[in-house]
Amino acid sequence: ARGYHAALDEFRMLSSESKRLIMALEARYREMSDVNGLKIKYNNVLGYFIEVTALHGDKLMTAPLNEEFIHRQTLANVVRFNSSELAELAGKIGQAADRALALEHEIYQELVTVVLNCWQEISLASQGLARLDVSTALAELAAEKNYCRPLVDDSLAFEVEDGRHPVVEAALIKGSGAKGGGDHFVANDCDLNPGNRLWLITGPNMAGKSTFLRQNALIALMAQMGGFVPARTAHVGVVDRLFSRVGASDDLARGRSTFMVEMVETAAILNQSGERSLVILDEIGRGTATYDGLSIAWAAVEHIHEVNKCRALFATHYHEMTSLSSKLDNLALHYMKVKDWQGEVVFLHEVAAGAADRSYGIQVAKLAGLPGVVVARAEQVLHSLEQGGQGVASGQKNAGKMGDLADDLPLFSVLQDRLRPSGPDKNSPAVKIEQELSAILPDELTPRQAMDVLYKLKKLQQDG
Ligand code: ADP
Repeated sequence: ARGYHAALDEFRMLSSESKRLIMALEARYREMSDVNGLKIKYNNVLGYFIEVTALHGDKLMTAPLNEEFIHRQTLANVVRFNSSELAELAGKIGQAADRALALEHEIYQELVTVVLNCWQEISLASQGLARLDVSTALAELAAEKNYCRPLVDDSLAFEVEDGRHPVVEAALIKGSGAKGGGDHFVANDCDLNPGNRLWLITGPNMAGKSTFLRQNALIALMAQMGGFVPARTAHVGVVDRLFSRVGASDDLARGRSTFMVEMVETAAILNQSGERSLVILDEIGRGTATYDGLSIAWAAVEHIHEVNKCRALFATHYHEMTSLSSKLDNLALHYMKVKDWQGEVVFLHEVAAGAADRSYGIQVAKLAGLPGVVVARAEQVLHSLEQGGQGVASGQKNAGKMGDLADDLPLFSVLQDRLRPSGPDKNSPAVKIEQELSAILPDELTPRQAMDVLYKLKKLQQDG
C-alpha cells in the first residue's frame, strides 16, 4: 500500500515518472524530426525503441538527424532506432522497476517473519474474533427475529411451541409471498415427548410438510450450537445425531438413481439412529410404484417405532398409513390443514392433530397449471380407483379396475367431450365480425359503401 514504505514509494514514483519522461521525449523527437508518426515503443526483445514508417526511415539516417538517432532494425514497413537519451531513460525505468520489486519482496519477507514471531497471539485473537462473530451474529438474529432461549437438557424431550423456519420465514417477509397462505409465516408446535415421539404427518404437496420437518431439525441444531431458536418456547433433550432424508438430491452422476439415493439414505437412518437421535423423513417411497413405495414407508415407520425408538417426524402423502396409529402406541397422527375453496385448494400451513382426509394431488396439479383435460381425466381415473376400494388390501381389485380404465376411458374421449360441446357462440361479436368480413367483396364496393362497412365493423366490436 502506498505510504507503507517511503523508499518503495519513491521507486514506484520514479518508474511512473520515467514513463512520463518517455512521452515527453517522444514529443520532442517528433518535433525535431518533423515526423508526426514517430513513436517510442516497447517490446520484450528490444526494450524501448524509436519507430517510424519506412517512408521516413532515410530521413532519420541522414545528417543531421543521424547524430541523434542510431539505426537498429529495418522491417518491411517500419524502421527502428535508438538514442543515447532513450537508452539512459530506459535504464532508469528498468532499474526503478527492478528495485521496487526487490524491495517489495524484502518487505514481504519481513512481514512474514513478524507474523511467524507472534503466530500464537494471532491465532488466539482470530479464534476470539470468530467466537465473537458467531455469538454477536446469533444474538443479533435472536433480538431482531424474536427467537427464544431454548432449554437444553439430558431428557428425551422435544417440545417446541410456535416454531418457525428461519429461512422460509425470512423469505416470506422479504415479500416472495406464499400462495393461499398469506405472506406471513404460520408458526407450528411440535411435541415429540415419549408417548408420541413419532409423528406421521400427512397432507398434500405444497402444504408445508417439508418446511415443518426442516424447521424442527434446525431448531434442534441451533439450540445445540448455543443459539436462540425461532420459536416461542423450546425444550430440546440433547440429540446425539440428527438424520434427515429430504428432497430428491439426485446422484445420477455417480450412477445412483433418485430412488437408489433415497433408499441408501433411509437405510443409513434405519441402521444408525438410536433413542437419542432426531430423524426427519420426507416422503420416502415416492420414487417407486405406489404399492412398493407405500410398503417401504410402512415398514420403515414400524422399524423406527419398534427398533430405533428415536424422536422422528415422518411426512408422507400416503394417507393409507394413518391406520398404523391403531397399532403403534407412540405414533401420533398429524396433518397439514387445507381448505377446499370453490374447488380450489387453499393451504393454511397449519399442523393439526389427526389425519388428512385426502391427498388433494389433483387440485395441486390444477394449481400448477396442468391442462384442463388432463385434470378432468385424472379426476375420472381417481373416481374409478376409489370405487375399486382403497388401501393396501385392495391391490387386486384395483388392478382389475386399472384394466377397465385402460379399455373404457381413453384420454381422447375426455378431450373430445371437452372440445365438442356447442363450439363457439353464434351470437358472439367475434363470430359476427367474422361473418361480416367474409361477406365483403372489396372490388365491388364504392368508396361510400366501404366507409359504411368500416363503421359497421367498428360498431360490432364496440357492442361486443
Ligand atoms: P410440502 O413439503 O408439503 O410439499 P413445503 O414445505 O415444500 O410443502 O412448502 C411449500 C411452500 O409453502 C413453502 O415454500 C412456503 O412458501 C410455504 N410454507 C410452508 N410452510 C409454511 C408456513 N408455516 N407458513 C407460511 N408459509 C409456509
